[in-house]
Amino acid sequence: MSGVDPPWARWYRCRSCGDEHPPDAVRWRCDCGGLLDLAGGYVRIPPAEEVRSRRSDLWRWSEALPFAPDDPAVDEVAMGEGAVPAVRIRARGCQVLATLEFASPTLSFKDRGAVVLVAAARRAGARRLVADSSGNAGTAIAAYAARVGLGCEVFVAASVSPAKLAQVRAHGAEVHLVEGTREDVASAAVDRVETSGAFYASHVWNPFFFEGTKTWAFDAWLAFGPHLDVVVVPVGNGTMLLGAHLGFGELVRAGHLPRMPRLVAVQAEACAPVAAAFRAGEDVVRPVAGGPTVAEGIAIAAPVRGTQCLDAVRATGGSVVTVTDDDIAVARAELAAQGLYVEPTAAAVAAGVVVAGLGAGDRGVVLPLCGAGIKAAG
Ligand SMILES: [Zn+2]
Repeated sequence: MSGVDPPWARWYRCRSCGDEHPPDAVRWRCDCGGLLDLAGGYVRIPPAEEVRSRRSDLWRWSEALPFAPDDPAVDEVAMGEGAVPAVRIRARGCQVLATLEFASPTLSFKDRGAVVLVAAARRAGARRLVADSSGNAGTAIAAYAARVGLGCEVFVAASVSPAKLAQVRAHGAEVHLVEGTREDVASAAVDRVETSGAFYASHVWNPFFFEGTKTWAFDAWLAFGPHLDVVVVPVGNGTMLLGAHLGFGELVRAGHLPRMPRLVAVQAEACAPVAAAFRAGEDVVRPVAGGPTVAEGIAIAAPVRGTQCLDAVRATGGSVVTVTDDDIAVARAELAAQGLYVEPTAAAVAAGVVVAGLGAGDRGVVLPLCGAGIKAAG
């Protein structure tokens, strides 16, 4: 935070008051209550041909990540996250580029963020992690905590799919089922963090998570080249959207992309606070009374970083669209007919392609298929 810092050094900076804090094991927000971003660091993104000669997982982007090249935490925690297939698919009749994030170690894109967050927690000296989740993030945190021998507690809604619950428990995490809304789940986790002194491994609050999810943008560029015009991503809490915004921004600044792609954010019609603010021309995202949807991974009625998501979309000239459960079912069946079995939240993104008005004439449309179909079973 002063003097000459190494290029991988990062520290917390409050989005509200600008105060800076060291990234220790107990802080998860500013003293003023504000959200923390990461400050500092120097990001280098090597030419594509240089990166292709390296390891295949996200740690190949080492000069863009907040760890020293020889940090032992990285090899302890890494298990191939980010090394997923990149293919061309049809989404509602439109040819698009897709990365198969559901082929990650715990079967969702959340591994990208979880591996970086758990490595950062370990480096900060954390002994026990607390996470809250609609399913996939909790699973990923539990898996990486187990890999490095950290204790882990996961708070989830009582309505979570049984398959996801079984996955979390298999990794040895202590599971707390919370009746009520997703916000009630988060509040229970925060209470536990405050009373136990555990590290809050939140994919919403902790900005190290976005250092992991930003690598999706790098991998999309490496797989498909620089002609990426439109990026379609799911938005609940915004872990993918904010990571994509960060990552594509770093690619532009590095000179690897000619311009920032438009970000198209997809929400479930029944629970769409970011879309509501976007349509109304509001500057702030306010909580909504969310209804039920099959897209449980994006059913977030009061997203903590909702306004940040809205700002990111607008900054790229993008849009926020909503899809119904029927749209999702059609898209999910269309993907399965191409050999791709994904969970409803992942299919929502494919459904969003046509709702956003993207069609056969649009080229360079890229999206992540975030979670595996068997996660929604049971
Ligand atoms: Zn502050």
